[in-house]
Amino acid sequence: MPHSAVPPAPGGTHDLVVVGGGVAGLAVAWRAARRGLRVAVADPSPGSGASHAAAGMLAPVSEVTYTEEPLLRLGLASLERWPAFAAELAADSGRDLAALDYRTDGTLEVAFDSDDLAALDELAGFIGALGLPAERLTGRECRRLEPMLAPAVRGGLLARGDAWVDPRRVTAALLAALERRGVAVVRARMTGLETSGGAVTGVRLAPGGAPGPAGSGSGRGTGREGGAVLRGDRVVLAAGAWSGTLDGLPPEVLPPVRPVKGQIMRLRSPEPVLSRCVRACVHGGRVYLVPRGDGELVLGATQEELGFDTRVTAGGLWELLRDARELVPGVAELEVADVTAGLRPGTPDNLPLVGPSALPGLVLATGHHRGGVLLAPLTADLLLGEDGGLAELAELCSPLRFQDHRFQDHRFQEQR
Ligand SMILES: Cc1cc2nc3c(=O)[nH]c(=O)nc-3n(C[C@H](O)[C@H](O)[C@H](O)COP(=O)(O)OP(=O)(O)OC[C@H]3O[C@@H](n4cnc5c(N)ncnc54)[C@H](O)[C@@H]3O)c2cc1C
Repeated sequence: MPHSAVPPAPGGTHDLVVVGGGVAGLAVAWRAARRGLRVAVADPSPGSGASHAAAGMLAPVSEVTYTEEPLLRLGLASLERWPAFAAELAADSGRDLAALDYRTDGTLEVAFDSDDLAALDELAGFIGALGLPAERLTGRECRRLEPMLAPAVRGGLLARGDAWVDPRRVTAALLAALERRGVAVVRARMTGLETSGGAVTGVRLAPGGAPGPAGSGSGRGTGREGGAVLRGDRVVLAAGAWSGTLDGLPPEVLPPVRPVKGQIMRLRSPEPVLSRCVRACVHGGRVYLVPRGDGELVLGATQEELGFDTRVTAGGLWELLRDARELVPGVAELEVADVTAGLRPGTPDNLPLVGPSALPGLVLATGHHRGGVLLAPLTADLLLGEDGGLAELAELCSPLRFQDHRFQDHRFQEQR
């Protein structure tokens, strides 16, 4: 495999143009560049979308639950890929693995009452049946592992296979790795598709963007004006929650992606509060706490269907703090480091849209909803065909599963 991507001559054609520089688009771009493909990325603000908000849990079982088996299969396949993905990304971006805050200490799911305990037993059976390591713990054993847990915790389940990562560090590392491979990241919004003979041949960009090396700020001063066209043999649409509303896409290929708002907060502690991810159901809602290597503790997250609203609200933060305090009373003493809201790219069946669309040359890598960080390595492999044994998983993610009825709806509207 060639070590670096070959940038095309100015105005030349790329093998791959990626629209959207979140974890999905950047992962695809980086893996493609590693294979020696000529790649360009277009995004007005790479790494600023849901990937900036995400907690970064790589926890397919406890996150997905056993009612969503197809998603679980995708999650497990991607979790398996994370160790190599993280190690190669660290090497390619010139950092060590610790710089990604990639940790594999498992998730502790805890229970407060007998209903929770029954649910934990069911989950333990399910995880066991999958052949994954999970250990049922008493309340005392939970507190021995995590002394800051509330005394009211009555039991837990330790899923040893789960991991987590800091998504902000991952997108920063992906941008650095792209820069080292000479991949152009154009700080501009896609405004339309270029087509020829019914196939996509590139994307049109809003004025103002100009190609620059990855991670180079605005990318200004590199000599090419915005409003330009990025040509590519294939265009990968990876615009997260915005993928369903992009300008310039024919309605019949516009993916059925909607924004699902999540508010999340980061607290700062002089000492680490937890040594692994802790999750629970509190007041009927899910809450999780994710420790970072630098002492930060992430509390997440709300799930709200409010369109493109990204306001951080008092009610959202109150809910997070109220629930987190039941789990770990000490959180109330910690300093608030950051509050933010991100938009998960949701789909009607909660499965991602990864693979060719009905429009030749246009490929999707979007709709990852609650699991885009977890699913990043698998997404890249599915799109680049790096693993021949993925046909079944590719079928689950195929964007064409929504195509038929959308196409018919569109035709129907046109006839009326
Ligand atoms: C609060 C919260 C917590 C989460 N926790 C987890 C977790 O623990 N684990 C996990 O796996 N996942 C988690 N997720 C989900 C995860 O964040 C998403 O699935 C993932 O980030 C989606 O990545 P993306 O690259 O598709 O989208 P994004 O990161 O949103 O990136 C999309 C990019 O597209 C760009 N864009 C938009 N329109 C255009 C255009 N016209 N032209 C060019 N570029 C454009 C945007 O600028 C943006 O940079 C969480 C999400 C939220 C909100």
